[in-house]
Amino acid sequence: MVVGLSTGPENRFDRQVRYAPLGAAGQARLREASVFVLGAGALGGVLAQNMVRSGVGRLVIVDRDHVDWTNLPRQVLFEDRHAQAGTLKAHAAQETLQRMGGPTHIEAIAAHVDAENLPELARGCDLLLDGSDNLETRYLLNDYAVRHGVPWVYAGVIGGGGLVLPIAPGRGPCLRCLFPEPPPPGSLETCDTAGVLMPAVGAIASFAAGLGLRLLTDPEGLTPRLLELDVWHGEVRALSLPAHPDCPTCARAEFPYLNTPLSERTLSLCGRNTVQVRGRGEALDMERMYDRLQELANVQRMGPVLRAELEGHRITLFPDGRALIEGTEDTGRALALYDRYLA
Ligand SMILES: [Zn+2]
Repeated sequence: MVVGLSTGPENRFDRQVRYAPLGAAGQARLREASVFVLGAGALGGVLAQNMVRSGVGRLVIVDRDHVDWTNLPRQVLFEDRHAQAGTLKAHAAQETLQRMGGPTHIEAIAAHVDAENLPELARGCDLLLDGSDNLETRYLLNDYAVRHGVPWVYAGVIGGGGLVLPIAPGRGPCLRCLFPEPPPPGSLETCDTAGVLMPAVGAIASFAAGLGLRLLTDPEGLTPRLLELDVWHGEVRALSLPAHPDCPTCARAEFPYLNTPLSERTLSLCGRNTVQVRGRGEALDMERMYDRLQELANVQRMGPVLRAELEGHRITLFPDGRALIEGTEDTGRALALYDRYLA
């Protein structure tokens, strides 16, 4: 028998503690830490798994959507039976993460994260991790994190690669230093249009999780840099970027995304099983939106508006960015569709 290499549950974190930069002190900090993961899908699943396996004290994970068959190649918390039943991702995530065991208290919440509920959902969290799928939500996270001085990690994946940026408010750039304004609606490729590979998800989320552990345990030693990874071409780049001296968020302390409550974005049309979602208040390039939607669905021009069938919902899109989403009274579901396909 080997002496000194015990295998009882008290040794669960032995191999992490042996990693000197983390050590017993770092592990103790993780045990005290609360982490917020926004989204339980591709990035969110790997991020949450990393946090639970690493032994953070508390994990809050929030997702508004349900499991779909197309999720299964890369969303590690879900199985065929969840897609079969259309289980809410939050519920499936709770079940899967709970089964991993360990000391983490897990709170999985089925909700659409917005300016109204983010302060409540993320209250007491020491780190925010980005597993979202749209820029609108990331700007909200960035506003919240900078406003409250909470570190967060931006992560975005598409195709065979993506970007990671650890953001430590007051030290280095924030998300809006890099991307001051959202691009025009319909101009950005998304995973729904350009596809995505599991190894890219794993690489991006693993880098984000590692930097998250660092921000929780030894933030001062970290120089935030933008990482660009591509698993298909085998490329990694790290870019040192200064904070922008005129950044609206971290220099001018403007937080517009914290001031747009859900109730201003949506209107449930009573008795019509339809939700209206407002756009950003700018005119859409309807030709670009037509091309985008044509890649995804059957789309028709009806005078100035476009009508498409997506995920079983009929969607009518107006040139002012407004959309009617039929077949639901759930504003979270309507926003999920809007942000995924029309933003
Ligand atoms: Zn900034």
